[in-house]
Amino acid sequence: MKFKRYKHARKLISFYKMNYGVREPYQVLVDGTFCQAALKGKIYIKEQLPKYIGSSVQILTTRCAIEETRSIGDDLIGALLVAKRFQQRNCGHKHKCIPAADCFTSLIGNDNSNHYFVATQDVELRRKLRRIPGVPLLYINRNTIVLEGVSDTSRDQAKQIGVEKVQPTKYQQSVLDSLGSELAETTKKPKRKKIKGPNPLSCKKKSKITGPFAAKSPGIVGKGRKRRIRKCRQQAAYLLSKVPVPSSD
Ligand SMILES: [Zn+2]
Repeated sequence: MKFKRYKHARKLISFYKMNYGVREPYQVLVDGTFCQAALKGKIYIKEQLPKYIGSSVQILTTRCAIEETRSIGDDLIGALLVAKRFQQRNCGHKHKCIPAADCFTSLIGNDNSNHYFVATQDVELRRKLRRIPGVPLLYINRNTIVLEGVSDTSRDQAKQIGVEKVQPTKYQQSVLDSLGSELAETTKKPKRKKIKGPNPLSCKKKSKITGPFAAKSPGIVGKGRKRRIRKCRQQAAYLLSKVPVPSSD
């Protein structure tokens, strides 16, 4: 079960890595509500968060989040002590603190360019951050840390980025267009194939036949033919020898 949870988390993180450039060490913004839930669930954030995410993690909070937790009073004194242990990210609200939800939203901006993760039990804040693409959200459910599934906004944006990546640039498009017109021209006028003669290497050179048979059998060569001619001559000579010679009387 544990293995499945970890595997699922790694899969989600690889999505953010691939599509939104999230890099290690992951920066996790933590508020007082998350610290309180961790205390209740006996979760040691510094140890269990990197284990769950599977990488080095920089746990951060803001002055606004600490002041908000402090303002609630004794009920959250434990959460306050936990939150104060984390590094405070300068949020720009030094002189006048604002609610943690607004503070985190301002740090995330429109595109979460600093690749923050946000760990909170504030349902309203999570709902707000789902509308911003590329914000991984963490919360605690039944004594376990959970990385929320990818929001529709993040998924749609990732698809859009993927489409844009495969689309050619203006210059590439112009080159493709010119190539296309050239190709169209060449396909219009197909090159006529030259009629080639027989392969000269495969043709045997004709030898000239001289003598009385040259006119009758042009191009005939070979020992067999010569032998037959010789045989005919011999037969003719033999027959002639058998013919009685008429006497001179
Ligand atoms: Zn702030």
